[in-house]
Amino acid sequence: MSKKYIIANWKMLPASWAEAEQILDFVNDHLESRNEKEFSLVFCPPFIFLDEVSNVLKTSHFEHGSSLGAQDVFWEDTGADTGEVSGPMLNKLGVQYVIVGHSERRWKLGESDEIVNKKLKAVLRNEMTPIVCLGEKIRDDNFREFLREQAKKTFSGLNHDEIGKCMIAYEPVWAISTNPDARPDTPESAMESIKIIQNFLIENWELKTEDLPKILYGGSVTSKNIVDFIEKKEIEGVLVGGASVNKEEFVKMLSLVK
Ligand code: PEP
Repeated sequence: MSKKYIIANWKMLPASWAEAEQILDFVNDHLESRNEKEFSLVFCPPFIFLDEVSNVLKTSHFEHGSSLGAQDVFWEDTGADTGEVSGPMLNKLGVQYVIVGHSERRWKLGESDEIVNKKLKAVLRNEMTPIVCLGEKIRDDNFREFLREQAKKTFSGLNHDEIGKCMIAYEPVWAISTNPDARPDTPESAMESIKIIQNFLIENWELKTEDLPKILYGGSVTSKNIVDFIEKKEIEGVLVGGASVNKEEFVKMLSLVK
């Protein structure tokens, strides 16, 4: 199995730095017990912990193979934008990955495809890797067309090379654990959606298969199903939300990535 990406999206958790440190210590102990690390870890904490997490990732067993990610970014690099955090600010803190278009931002906070597109361009402009979330809200007869339309607007104006620099997290909204009726997708149905997105990019940007963005799956991934997803060669990793702040569960997941 090739090295897989495990992206930990802590969302608005944990409540204190002391708890965050406990998660990181627990993961570090696990990394110490592994000879080979068959995964690349990306921690995406809330903004207020970025600096501290950045320092921890420079130490001990995190030093090789762990990176810092942010959960959001503003689309302008500078200006009077109260409450926002810019790409240059994130870059300076050592952030290498930025999640854009997470469904909680799209559907709870009303972020449109146009806003996601501007944020995606800000991430690329500031030389970080965007983790672009795409996914249908409902798996009805329209979901294929919905995915193509979402991809078209989200990636609008990007050139061939810029598309290749992105990572795509296919995250069906109905499968995200915070959704009251959440149920994880199956690897087979996730693969159907992934193929739709990949074919759309190939047709519209004339990408060769080897230039396609790396694909992740997200949506209620836990120790019960992580292997089912990552054993698919097209799925190059997982975006883990709720389970990434449960230290025992998160380490159990890592122990299954071999
Ligand atoms: C996420 O936050 O991107 C996510 C997939 O959440 P969860 O794993 O909790 O469903």
